[in-house]
Amino acid sequence: MARRARSIASILAVMAVAIGAACGGAPSARDAQGHLVVATAFYPLEWLSRRIGGEHVAVFSLTPSGAEPHDLELAPSDVAAVADAGLVVYLRGFQPAVDSAVTNASAARVLDVGPPAALAPRVAGSGSAAADPHFWLDPGRMSAVATAIAGALARTDAANASAYQANARIVADDLQALDRDLSAGLAHCEVTDLVTSHEAFGYFATRYGLHQVAIAGLSTDTEPSASALATVADLVRRRHVRTVYFETLTSPALARTIGDETGATTDQLDPVEGITRESRGRDYLEIMRANLATLRRGQGCA
Ligand SMILES: [Zn+2]
Repeated sequence: MARRARSIASILAVMAVAIGAACGGAPSARDAQGHLVVATAFYPLEWLSRRIGGEHVAVFSLTPSGAEPHDLELAPSDVAAVADAGLVVYLRGFQPAVDSAVTNASAARVLDVGPPAALAPRVAGSGSAAADPHFWLDPGRMSAVATAIAGALARTDAANASAYQANARIVADDLQALDRDLSAGLAHCEVTDLVTSHEAFGYFATRYGLHQVAIAGLSTDTEPSASALATVADLVRRRHVRTVYFETLTSPALARTIGDETGATTDQLDPVEGITRESRGRDYLEIMRANLATLRRGQGCA
């Protein structure tokens, strides 16, 4: 937290110098080395922006590494960083604090990844019409967002447009390879009910022929009721679910409760909402491949 605060403060300091030097409105905010400053809302957008922006951008994330993005609060320095960034990449409707901060940024410098991600209403649950934000667990949606980020970077920083497009093609190839491996690895599983902690794997489950049963709701801060827990435990017994999954950024207590009650084992399935020491990989691609190995074991996939 403290380290992030310092790094944002230092970015702001060099930006203040750069903006002051430009004297009268540079079209895009840059750091002292001339990098386009890109503010991203949370980890998967940070990862995509770094991969696509490469050496031409200075990317930071508004959600601190190791923090959970759903209930993010922003400090005044974060709000100022959003207003001053050369490009802001966020998902409208996911983090109210970020939605509010981008109202201070010029529309030309803001990319809402919701439209390219083609958000859909949640697949299961209480009948709420809320859109499911977790597009990044579907490599196809992730690839569409990569294309949108490359386009926004190219418009904001036309001198490096060809580099952004070339980097985006490499990311798209990586995502396509990941998608192929997930499709092949999850094609024949003995258990297709996927019991997750919060409702993050809807797009993922739909893409790979699984059926998500979430212990909690779309957000990590919704606590399930005792009767909701009993319903999940009942399903685990009836459908012979072997493994109940917990996450890296939230308490494993719910999954353990269901496991204790039913005899199912528990294992870590990562919704890639942030990187911690417990993450089974250093970045998005490594963690998604670790998830594949976990699921092949936990769902009994041939
Ligand atoms: Zn989530």
